[in-house]
Amino acid sequence: MHTLHGNFTTETNFYGGNDVFDLVGQYGSPLYVYNENILRERCQDMKNLVTYDNFVPHYSIKANTNIHLLKIVREEGLHADVMSPGEIFLAEQSGYKTDELFFIPNNVTKEDMLYAIKRNVTTSIDSLDQLKMYGELNPGGKIAIRFNPGVGAGHHEKVVTGGKKTKFGIGSEFIPEVKKLLETYDLTLIGINQHIGSLFMDPAPYIQSLDSILNIARQFDDLTFIDLGGGFGIPYHKQDGESRLDIKGLGEILDEVLHDFADSYGKKVQFQIEPGRYIVCESSAVLGNVTALKSNGDTKYLGCDIGFNILQRPIMYDSHHDIEIYSKEARLKDVSPFTVVGNICESGDILAKDRLLPETQIGDIIALMDAGAYGYSMASCYNQRFRPAEILVESSGSVRLIRKRDTFEDLIRNMI
Ligand SMILES: *Cc1c(COP(=O)(O)O)cnc(C)c1O
Repeated sequence: MHTLHGNFTTETNFYGGNDVFDLVGQYGSPLYVYNENILRERCQDMKNLVTYDNFVPHYSIKANTNIHLLKIVREEGLHADVMSPGEIFLAEQSGYKTDELFFIPNNVTKEDMLYAIKRNVTTSIDSLDQLKMYGELNPGGKIAIRFNPGVGAGHHEKVVTGGKKTKFGIGSEFIPEVKKLLETYDLTLIGINQHIGSLFMDPAPYIQSLDSILNIARQFDDLTFIDLGGGFGIPYHKQDGESRLDIKGLGEILDEVLHDFADSYGKKVQFQIEPGRYIVCESSAVLGNVTALKSNGDTKYLGCDIGFNILQRPIMYDSHHDIEIYSKEARLKDVSPFTVVGNICESGDILAKDRLLPETQIGDIIALMDAGAYGYSMASCYNQRFRPAEILVESSGSVRLIRKRDTFEDLIRNMI
């Protein structure tokens, strides 16, 4: 194989010496490929973020719930955040113990709460109504509350989860009501958490939000943990030289804040963070076939078999994914703008607009990079396309199938 465009996979030996044409030949196209080394490195980045010793990063599994990846994340020592009974189930299937899970639901039913209560999974509540509901189901229990720190951040308005324009969290102005409900139902507040939004590359809003969550924390006496949220960004624009989030700088500031808080609170509470994207995103690329090239007016289209059912982020958040192109033989590499589109019958099925790419041919392979987070986990079988297989390139370079591709039977399975 020859790489016509992009160098991330070459520089990281992403495919472990395997030929992408062989991989697609064996496992089908499209195909999610994961790299074990990168996944483990990102886990370690978060594990070693601070020197404060009572620090437990939780992986927010909604970013990617493949149990084989979860096993690796658990091996690296991360606990897990879960959002639904389904995620609790998958985390348990991957080996997580219930005391390693933190359930952070939003607008859930009694049944959902009971699922967690029966398993003794620590639960975070994020509205007064849900606090009442929880109190009635589990009086005398221990709970956490998700507060809204009044600050938001994120790459798109759809992913800002703090501040005044979001459905998430309880505002600090409601602390008196919270205290009353805790008393009514004899609940002990053992933890508080926040999550200001997704994909920040500038640590400033994250740091700014700490003041407010820690001020809230000081108003409760029985806390054993404080969860500062996720949202750690990754550089999606590597081909344009985007730099990484300054993890070391962020860690140093955090460390100071955590130690100061522990001194003033009089207890070394456990601090948690809950990154999702940062852990899995860069460990995956999704491969597909180049299937057609055409012009319409001034636009050149590069058609491939990766529809928005395979990777939703571009249509959902206008997200950018770097693109690599592989060919069987070496060719010229002059670039010109292409709009990259998939095989779904909707004109919105666009993966990238006016992207500078080399001339491709049918039979080349296209890779959308940084697809590990909110990639497969948001995939669907819209247009009755199969959800793809997932494979893991292990540290040794050997390839392991970690999820089979859908089949026709899967499309009809539940239609009784
Ligand atoms: C989605 C989510 C996260 C993870 O967000 P990332 O941007 O993937 O790090 C963390 N906490 C909560 C409560 C979430 O809903």
